[in-house]
Amino acid sequence: MANKELNKKPEELTILLPGGAGYIGSHTAVELLDRGYKVVIVDNLSNSSKVAIDRIRQITGANDEQLVFIEADILDRPAMDKVFTNYSVDAIIMFAGLKAVGESTQKPLEYYWNNVGGALTLFDVAREHGCKNVIFSSSATVYGEEAQVPFTEELERGKTTNPYGETKAMLERILTDFYLADDEWSVVLLRYFNPIGAHESGLIGEDPKGIPNNLLPYVAQVATGKLKELGVFGNDYPTPDGTGVRDFIHVVDLAVGHVKALEWMAGKIGTGEPIGRGSYQGPVSEDGTRHGVGVFNLGTGKGTSVLEVVAAFEKACGHKIPYAIKDRRPGDIAVCYAACDKARDELGWVAQYDIARMCEDTWRWQSGNPNGYEG
Ligand code: NAD
Ligand code: UDP
Repeated sequence: MANKELNKKPEELTILLPGGAGYIGSHTAVELLDRGYKVVIVDNLSNSSKVAIDRIRQITGANDEQLVFIEADILDRPAMDKVFTNYSVDAIIMFAGLKAVGESTQKPLEYYWNNVGGALTLFDVAREHGCKNVIFSSSATVYGEEAQVPFTEELERGKTTNPYGETKAMLERILTDFYLADDEWSVVLLRYFNPIGAHESGLIGEDPKGIPNNLLPYVAQVATGKLKELGVFGNDYPTPDGTGVRDFIHVVDLAVGHVKALEWMAGKIGTGEPIGRGSYQGPVSEDGTRHGVGVFNLGTGKGTSVLEVVAAFEKACGHKIPYAIKDRRPGDIAVCYAACDKARDELGWVAQYDIARMCEDTWRWQSGNPNGYEG
């Protein structure tokens, strides 16, 4: 079956967001709805809340036709078939997946089953319904431990250190193979660096269940007094202050990157030049879709250390964040930041927000919703 055309007005396009009730998906839904796209969110709410859907409506004013929410699991094939039968999905932005690195080492079967099995189920149903346009949430983790900064898209994927990272590498390979076997597929692999921050309304944000694994939600919960002190994992790295350095990116910038990727797939933007090894970019076809595989980093290109984050957050919340130096966390690398030229040149996308703003927006969300969506 021929693939869906994308070179239409946003109002004429329906974008499916599996995992769209989650942190990055909810922010992307807002950016899509603000530009007129119709959005269908499918989520099993395993790591999210239905309240996020109400908040998306509150921010965007979207009605039931513009934004549809279906509580379902992507592994549930009949349910997925129903979604594609009931809605004419033009493209998929695939967020659904389990994402806790540590947990993935304890529950590899669950991670491979959910992330890879779930994605395969969904893509198979999508293909049956003639939708072969996929934007995939990948991660800087695919560059592996050995890569030198800044990470460029031309680097080969490296050796992953945990099952979570491996599901990302596997799905990158799987989606690339789809295109190599059938050039109607249009795929964009977006390699996120460290998304933090929240929508400026303070109505949506990151709401981890239990004790947070990631730096920013942990710092934010120390700031509200919910947690006592931050453990800084290592101060003997070869970095200016000894703590780990990451490329933190505002989640709204990241969300806008998805809209750009969609426009790029539709052939609305981009140079049409070959875009590097590992990117099997084909021509823009007559049906208005760019067939191929585009690989893009979404980061800021700037590294910020753990202690610099703590200082920026103290400024945002107006008081000290207690912390203690702990041992290094196994599997962590010293420094990670992106080369962002390709996204700038091809997608016309550059991150706008700095670390101060990221912390201010995180604080607005966290202080207004100390227990996340639970109230
Ligand atoms: P999140 O947990 O907030 O969102 C993922 C959503 O997927 C959740 O709402 C969850 O309920 C849903 N989900 C999981 N399994 C499902 C299933 N089988 N069926 C239906 N829904 C399911 O995570 P996020 O931070 O928004 O991340 C979104 C995507 O981006 C994930 O694939 C994640 O691996 C990837 N990513 C995230 C980061 C990060 O730091 N947050 C970095 C790189 C990549
Ligand atoms: N980190 C920390 N304390 C925490 C959580 C994270 O010192 O409680 C550090 C971690 O060692 C890394 C950085 O913060 O250097 C970012 O970690 P995070 O888990 O947020 O993202 P990662 O880059 O590991 O995916």
